[in-house]
Amino acid sequence: MNDVAHRSFLDRLAQAVGRAQVLTDPQETAPYCTDWRRQYSARAECVVRPASADEVAQVVRLCAHEGVAVVPQGGNTGLCGGSVPTGTRREIVLSLARLNRIRDLDTLNNAITVEAGCVLASIQAAAQASGRLFPLSLGAEGSCQIGGNLSTNAGGVNVLRYGNAREQVLGLEVVLPDGRIWDGLRGLRKDNTGYDLKQLFLGAEGTLGVITAAVLKLHPQPAATATAWIAVEAPQRAVELLAALRARLGDRLTAFELVSRVCLDAVLARVPGTRDPLGAAHPWYVLAEVSDVGEPAALAASVERALTDSAESGEIRDATLAASEAQAAALWRLRETIPEAQFRNVKHDVSVPVSKVPALIDEASRAIERAFPGGVVYAFGHIGDGNIHYNVGASDPEANEALMRGRAAVNAVVYEVVAALGGSISAEHGLGQLKREEIRRHKDPLELELMRALKKALDPAGIMNPGKVI
Ligand code: FAD
Ligand code: ZN
Repeated sequence: MNDVAHRSFLDRLAQAVGRAQVLTDPQETAPYCTDWRRQYSARAECVVRPASADEVAQVVRLCAHEGVAVVPQGGNTGLCGGSVPTGTRREIVLSLARLNRIRDLDTLNNAITVEAGCVLASIQAAAQASGRLFPLSLGAEGSCQIGGNLSTNAGGVNVLRYGNAREQVLGLEVVLPDGRIWDGLRGLRKDNTGYDLKQLFLGAEGTLGVITAAVLKLHPQPAATATAWIAVEAPQRAVELLAALRARLGDRLTAFELVSRVCLDAVLARVPGTRDPLGAAHPWYVLAEVSDVGEPAALAASVERALTDSAESGEIRDATLAASEAQAAALWRLRETIPEAQFRNVKHDVSVPVSKVPALIDEASRAIERAFPGGVVYAFGHIGDGNIHYNVGASDPEANEALMRGRAAVNAVVYEVVAALGGSISAEHGLGQLKREEIRRHKDPLELELMRALKKALDPAGIMNPGKVI
């Protein structure tokens, strides 16, 4: 037996990453051990903060040797408890925060090579500084990390035009559960040499390996953006408007978000400095964004024409077009602060085909009213992608807490409607701990069997983020 084997686990981790990067003091580890929604909290043996793929590999090898579970963590903004320990076995939190270098930016290949711990907003800024666009954009972009975005296959507000996180990726570098490093950092737009292995790790929520770096696609930076706040009668009108605007504006339509009056009221009441952009109250709103490389005035004129036509044909009730960047930011703030304006209620992140969103909202709301009279529905989100954040609460605080305690019953009502419409119970947030059991009722048994087979092939010892996803 050699010397190394005699040293304690913590000592060997310290040797790999430096003693200061192995945190054991409960005060220091606490923020890493509780999730963003404060629904999950459990202690880990330690938090390890490597600074390179090699250091990640050493840490994972040590954990594999000891049979200790590895919980990868990015910005810890995930909404399903995937990035924190479960407390059911020996676990470490592996923070990727120090892998935060931009390794390369190739404007002719329109690609950027980044490490997993780069904060999403910093990648957007680097792309912008080189006259390019990295289009992934979501409310948590100031703190979430690209490794977390790719591991949850995050969506956000630009999916309509650019696709979700998965679609931004050309190549990956991954530390496998046995500690080997897979260098798949290729910036190729075409590569048909067998299975597309990177897809396995995208959306895997850290259960198959640790993403340490990625090559991402960049896009032309739009020169003009038009942002409109549009009032509509009902979700059906919003879906029809989407089709009409796409026919008129094509791919220039980059975002199309739904906001209910109930959500807007919550924002106006609880978020300082917000105001209703339209004079009168309306039952539903759409926040639409259109962007292009051409002249700003030309784009604004064509959006205005499209909206005028829609108003004349009765598709919309009222609309306002932002006249400045500050006005556009104020409109986006109304949409992006909805999560904090209704923080504590029963959440659902569901998707159906875009054409079925109106049925989803109508039928789920009727079912909620029947099962939980007085329940308040907060429906909002990415209607252009068929993805609605359908949250249920109650105005009375006590009734709200009762709903929270009985949330499984609320979930069941909503998920039944989603299933009947051929939808998904997790459109963009993943499964984590939150939906690990629920998914078994909704996913085809053969699909679950294939997922388990992949897990077993890549992580036979089951050390990568156990207790999450499957
Ligand atoms: P974490 O929360 O740290 O981790 C998420 C999962 O990925 C965990 O399972 C973790 O183990 C795993 N993981 C993290 N890094 C790695 C890695 N390098 N290798 C392997 N596994 C890893 N999500 C959307 O999709 N769309 C939205 O519009 C959206 N809006 C949000 C708004 C707010 C205000 C908040 C708080 C969250 C929002 N989210 C949204 C959810 C969340 O921001 C995303 O899921 C984000 O992608 C998570 O990134 P993260 O770095 O915080 O990951
Ligand atoms: Zn969302």
